[in-house]
Amino acid sequence: MNLEEVKAAEAELLLATYERNPILFVRGEGVYLIDENGERYLDLLSGIGVNALGYAHPAIETAIAQQSSRLIHLSNLFYHEGQAKLAERLTKAGGMDRAFFCNSGTEAMEAALKLARAYAGVRRSEGATLGTKFLALENSFHGRTMGSVAATHKAKYREPFDPVMPGVEFVRFNDVEDLKAKFSTDVCAIVLEAIQGEGGIRPVSKEFLATARELTQSTGALLIADEIQAGFGRTGKWFAYQHYGVQPDVATLAKPIAGGLPLGAVLCTNEAARAIHPGMHGTTFGGGPLACAVALAVLDTFENEQVLDHVTEIGTYFKGRLEQLAKKHDSVLDVRGLGLMLAIELNTAELAKEALNELLKRRIIVNRTSETVLRFLPPYILGKAHVDVLAEALDEILTGQTDGEAGAAQIAEGKQIG
Ligand SMILES: *Cc1c(COP(=O)(O)O)cnc(C)c1O
Repeated sequence: MNLEEVKAAEAELLLATYERNPILFVRGEGVYLIDENGERYLDLLSGIGVNALGYAHPAIETAIAQQSSRLIHLSNLFYHEGQAKLAERLTKAGGMDRAFFCNSGTEAMEAALKLARAYAGVRRSEGATLGTKFLALENSFHGRTMGSVAATHKAKYREPFDPVMPGVEFVRFNDVEDLKAKFSTDVCAIVLEAIQGEGGIRPVSKEFLATARELTQSTGALLIADEIQAGFGRTGKWFAYQHYGVQPDVATLAKPIAGGLPLGAVLCTNEAARAIHPGMHGTTFGGGPLACAVALAVLDTFENEQVLDHVTEIGTYFKGRLEQLAKKHDSVLDVRGLGLMLAIELNTAELAKEALNELLKRRIIVNRTSETVLRFLPPYILGKAHVDVLAEALDEILTGQTDGEAGAAQIAEGKQIG
């Protein structure tokens, strides 16, 4: 099938959940995607923050080949070695005690929300005063199922499906007074992203996160860190909360952890884990042998190739180049983010839309979120040469030069690490 055929078939056959870009990809290689005509695209989005090691990474290919010849799926009624091995690495990285594996971000959030409700129940049975309410933040994104979408702020994601899970109240972003005012013993958990992703790459303030930690500690409520986008090395540390020196009770992971295969995880303390007993929660596919084996191969690669140090180094360089653009162009309002979770905010939604389209014309893939924000979630294996290509192209676009060629040659020849 070619692009037009796929487009026509999907328009007739699929639920209209996405407005896709009109490109048909057939394969990938390193930081590049390659379309049906053999054209290369520099991918600075990596799925949506999923393909941490880019495309066709040999470690992932090998892990899939080896594990798929042994065991792809096994129900959670029997043992395989993958979950224990992976739990050991993830809990150690996150300062946590226990893990639960599922298949996606929203499922990890559902498990975390259920854990908080169940834990509050246990505490009540022990005489504590603890309610069932959640506090989430304005501009948050936690997923699409009835629980996680209830904690997602944007009305268009929630309201068509009302009633979603009741009992969520939204706190103004980084407003410590609003947080204090809305917190009470009615609250079983505060849910937040240390760096909001969909919300426009917005880090919470140190004071806000510290206050959320103090308030929850004062009642025994849980602090749940949604690390689905910011976690697993994306910011140069294993977890974004580690930049703040704040340890949550529960953390959720998903997007990049199995190098492109679906896998989600909830990490928590032994104290919170007291609430969960056999039969209360589960999953058919979650934590299967194949996904776990690939996640372990991704972790081995991170270690062997010092990938987190690379994320910090290349992220600092990337942010520096964006800051240069901000100095030069009045249309750039802000540059935000850490590691390879970065954004540039432009002064109008029209300009952001135009920049996105111009970049795509130059075969550079980025994403627009929160109307005016260009978001970058590239593979962790990005090189300086790739950053330069993007920076030069953006410079031309923000200057109003729509026929520029910056980077075209480098992309066409598929330059890898620079
Ligand atoms: C993507 C995302 C989710 C939802 O993950 P899915 O795998 O799409 O269900 C939840 N929280 C954050 C912060 C995310 O970026």
